[in-house]
Amino acid sequence: MPGPLEIVKHLPRTNCGECGQPSCLAFAVALSAGKVRPEACPYFPGDLARGLSGKVRPEVADQTLAILREVKAAVQKIDLKARAEAFGGRFEGGRLLLAYLDGEVALDAEKAERLDGESLDPRDQILLYNYVRFGRGTPLSGKFVGLEAFPHSVSKVATLRRYAEEPLARALETQEERLREALSRFRIRKLEERADLAVEVWVLPRVPLRIHFWRGEAEEGLPGEVKILYDQQAPEYLDLESLVFCAERLVERWLEMAGLSDAF
Ligand code: SF4
Repeated sequence: MPGPLEIVKHLPRTNCGECGQPSCLAFAVALSAGKVRPEACPYFPGDLARGLSGKVRPEVADQTLAILREVKAAVQKIDLKARAEAFGGRFEGGRLLLAYLDGEVALDAEKAERLDGESLDPRDQILLYNYVRFGRGTPLSGKFVGLEAFPHSVSKVATLRRYAEEPLARALETQEERLREALSRFRIRKLEERADLAVEVWVLPRVPLRIHFWRGEAEEGLPGEVKILYDQQAPEYLDLESLVFCAERLVERWLEMAGLSDAF
C-alpha cells in the first residue's frame, strides 16, 4: 500500500468530507493504513482504486460481512412468497428467484447464490437483499433520467462517472465490437436513439439502465462519452448508493464477459 503522501497526490485536496474523513490527508492516512476503502472517495482515480481495493485490512472486509448480516436480518421479516411478483421474481422451493445481470439468483433470508454455481460477491448479495428490502413494487415510469435528477445525488454522480461511465467509455472507444458481442449475455433492448450505442440493460427485474455511448473525435482530442440513465422510479427499489453500484457492477461484469477484466 502506498504511503499517505503518495496517495494524497491523487486526491483533489478539496477536503470536502464526502468520504467521512475530515480532510483529504486524513483519508490518505486511513487508506494507507488499510482502514478505509478507496471507493469511499468519489474523486479517487478509478484505476488506482481498483488496484488498492484488495489491500484493505481484513476488518474492512469484515465490515462488508457485517452489513450483509444486517441486511439478511432485515429480510427475515419480509414474506418473499407474497412479494415475489412485486420484485419481478418468482417463488420456488422456498426461495425467491430473480434475474440478475447475466444470470439468475436464488435467495432466502439465509443465503443468496447464483443458479449457475458461480460465486456471488458479498457486495452483490448486499445489493440483492437491499432490493428485496426496499423494493416497493411501484410500476416503472418508462421515463429515464440521469442520476443527478434524484435528490442528494451530487457525490454519487461523481462516483458513477468515475467507476462506471468513464471506464466504460474508455473500453468502448477501443473495444466496441467485443463489448457489443458480450452484450448478448445480458437482458437487453436495443434503442433507436441518437448515439453510437444505445441500449437498455436490466440489472434486476425492476432496475433497467439505459446506456448511451458517443464515440470521441480523436483529431479534435475529444474522448468518447458514456451516459447512464435510470428509470424515474428507480429510487422506489434501491437507495442511491445501490443504484450506483448497479451501474458499476454492470460495467465490471460486461468487461469480464468481453474478456477485458481490469483492462480499463
Ligand atoms: S471525499 Fe475525497 S476529496 Fe473529499 S475529503 Fe475525502 S478524500 Fe478529499
